[in-house]
Amino acid sequence: MGSDKPRHPLDPKRRPRATVWGSSPGPGYSPANSNTRIHGPKPFVLPEAAGRPTAALAMNLGLNSERLRAQMVSRLREQGIDDERVLAAMQAVPRHLFVDQGLASRAYEDAALPIGYGQTISQPWVVAHMLSLMSVGRNPQRVLEIGAGCGYQAAVLAQFVREVFAIERVRGLYEQARMNLAQGRFKTRVRLTFGDGMLGLEHHAPFDGIVVAAAGVKIPEALLHQLAIGARLIAPEGSTHQRLILIERTSQASWQRVELQDVRFVPLRPGTQL
Ligand code: SAH
Repeated sequence: MGSDKPRHPLDPKRRPRATVWGSSPGPGYSPANSNTRIHGPKPFVLPEAAGRPTAALAMNLGLNSERLRAQMVSRLREQGIDDERVLAAMQAVPRHLFVDQGLASRAYEDAALPIGYGQTISQPWVVAHMLSLMSVGRNPQRVLEIGAGCGYQAAVLAQFVREVFAIERVRGLYEQARMNLAQGRFKTRVRLTFGDGMLGLEHHAPFDGIVVAAAGVKIPEALLHQLAIGARLIAPEGSTHQRLILIERTSQASWQRVELQDVRFVPLRPGTQL
């Protein structure tokens, strides 16, 4: 009957309203207990990890990472992600290359992990969910990402989008993302900018999709004007209490807004940090 029908992607009831960790690891976080989070299946821990030196572990992970990613992707499916483009992209991008070597063994857990400067790489489920919502029923060619961090989400986007424009405001992270993206040969499709993403990239607009990886009290208005008509923006909004918001530009002067579930992201900040 009705309840068996798949829910419309914009239906806020589609996912349980539990808080999920986006780019923030949450209160009480330490690298040793980062499973603070989240709903969904149990985090995966590499069994071989115990007692191995880091370099050997990284090599081991390199050899096994395809299998670990396949497990991550099947967990994402179980958690309701059904966009095949997004799933294929998450299968293709080696997330362990985007985190510090010491955390590489945990790269395929469904957890946000620290990347330095008080920032984090977003939880895989959140990346998959946001990219699915931004692109469902569409074929986005030019997408803007605010908050590139270590570059992971931009690399995932680059698997199915022709041109990704990504902005990061922390100089050290911008450099990190640049190196990570070059190493993975994703750079050709990602145009990384050091700057304040709250302003967007006016001279490259309009975009077929905008993904914001940090939470502002309000979604910056400049970004709404840089959406193409029919395109979608997905962003967390709020400070202590945050919600994921999906906005679709329906005409030159109208936008439709839907509030989705509670989330926890690092704050969207103005200006840049050297
Ligand atoms: N997209 C990343 C998530 C990084 S965390 C991933 O793939 O995991 C969010 C990032 O947003 C942080 O690196 C933070 O520095 C950045 N950020 C916050 N405010 C910003 C702004 N106004 N412009 C650009 N980046 C911003």
